[in-house]
Amino acid sequence: VLEARQHETVLEVNLDAVVHNFNNFRSRIKPTTGIVAMVKASGYGAGSYELAKTLQSQGAAYLAVAVADEGVDLRKAGITMPIMVLNPRVVNYTTLFDCRLEPEIYSFEILEEFIREGRRHGIHDYPVHIKLDTGMHRLGFLEADMPRLKKVLQSQDVLTPKSVFSHLAAADSPEMDDYTMEQFEIFARCSESLQRGFSHHILRHILNSTGITRFPEHQYDMVRLGICLYGIPTMPDHSQGDLRPVSTLRTSVISIKEWPAGTTIGYSRKGLLHRRSRIATLPIGYADGLNRHLGYGNAAVWINGRRCPTVGSICMDVCMVDVTDTPCKVGDTVEVFGHNISVIELADILGTIPYEILTSVASRVKRVYY
Ligand code: PLP
Repeated sequence: VLEARQHETVLEVNLDAVVHNFNNFRSRIKPTTGIVAMVKASGYGAGSYELAKTLQSQGAAYLAVAVADEGVDLRKAGITMPIMVLNPRVVNYTTLFDCRLEPEIYSFEILEEFIREGRRHGIHDYPVHIKLDTGMHRLGFLEADMPRLKKVLQSQDVLTPKSVFSHLAAADSPEMDDYTMEQFEIFARCSESLQRGFSHHILRHILNSTGITRFPEHQYDMVRLGICLYGIPTMPDHSQGDLRPVSTLRTSVISIKEWPAGTTIGYSRKGLLHRRSRIATLPIGYADGLNRHLGYGNAAVWINGRRCPTVGSICMDVCMVDVTDTPCKVGDTVEVFGHNISVIELADILGTIPYEILTSVASRVKRVYY
């Protein structure tokens, strides 16, 4: 295991944990169900190439990225497995075709543009993924669009629907399960209707991490595994089994000073000390992704087996923590989140979701893989 070097803040990424979490979910679904591994937003902040390489070797069916550039980077790095691009915003079709990136088609505009560009490039039977809007109301074809969609798809030979999919709006809210059931029904009707227009089998997928856990009967041909791959449970009841955190944000102590009661620490003198205190400075700030609202004692970091609360406001590049009750010295390792300080805890403090914590770690923070 790597130690954060002095004066360095790193995001440690445990690839064995990725494998463990992948296989945990693998064992929960039918052996024939493919796993689409969500590596968008640079692998939920962990770095997409290293994850992609690991997932490719584990037998994931697909990788899913958000934008074409993420897919291009993976191809340049040598990833050969199928890649789905969820939000293509295609600016360069030549690159898309050259890199064999398979776009999500979510509107008639993008469908017609794709056909036009495909013809121009002499493309035939290019695999695409048809997105249905069954209730998320974000992107995708509605049930009322199905007759026209089938007509357009059947009247061309540029692209071929490789899969048809949708996304659940409230998979994690049992009180809204009626709505989720309606989404499943709409999806079944629309995907069956699409399938009737084609002789090849069109793959179907609708479940994300929580959906896989709560509605395994709807796994169809593939499932899209995101946050649980990164070891963050989405259910409070341990029903997702043993998930291991993939990302650990670590830094180190770069300075310790002792101050008398009444001293103030940091900007606007917000950190007022009520007792004689030892205050450590850490080389991580909001420019590294440490949200300012975690300052003022709202959050704690983990040093030598103890929680050490933040003091005063988080600065751009550093922050201060109270180590009065924690034996420590300059150079000691600090966990900001990962094992002892959970991503879920930080998300709760900030009134957000773990996804945002993971994807907010700035690009200047070095990713270290082990
Ligand atoms: N499918 C789509 C279309 C998504 O946008 C996402 C995540 O945002 C996922 C699947 C994965 O969801 P989760 O990370 O909750 O498993």
